[in-house]
Amino acid sequence: MNTTEESDRARKRALKILEQSGIQLGQGETDQLEVIDFGLGNPRVEGLQLLTLFQTGRMAGRILIMTPHQTEPEHWHPPFAGNPGKEEIIRAIWGEVRFYLPGKDTMSKGFLVPGKEHLYTMRHEKVLVPGDTLILEPGTKHWFQAGGEGAVFYSFSTMVQDGADKFTDPKVAR
Ligand code: ZN
Repeated sequence: MNTTEESDRARKRALKILEQSGIQLGQGETDQLEVIDFGLGNPRVEGLQLLTLFQTGRMAGRILIMTPHQTEPEHWHPPFAGNPGKEEIIRAIWGEVRFYLPGKDTMSKGFLVPGKEHLYTMRHEKVLVPGDTLILEPGTKHWFQAGGEGAVFYSFSTMVQDGADKFTDPKVAR
């Protein structure tokens, strides 16, 4: 299967999950849904679906949709041109999402992407279910993974500059 087909499938799965979440969207807004494979070519395993709700020069609001067991590669948001780095607040809406953060290894529900264990160094697990909020300070290394049904959550943040993000996996191209 080629990358375009994979990405179409990811889009369809994500739209179904988004509908289950009950979030009401404007006409045509789901056309803006982006499938991100981080240049790794396997969005089913390592990827993310993103819907930007608003974005200004100072702040952004996005809906993140993950298909079952999908994983976002480990990264952090460093300072860039006069900005201390993205501060991000995650608000869980539907399904379960597990975040991995600095701290003691408490990993029990999630799994490391097979063959890429060394690229997932944060092992402190925080499981978020609907109604949970998580604050990610700038520069905090993190990765996350959906549970078995997938997950939907909001990301509210200071100015987004995805190109500034740093990833543990040198193969990631954003
Ligand atoms: Zn992040």
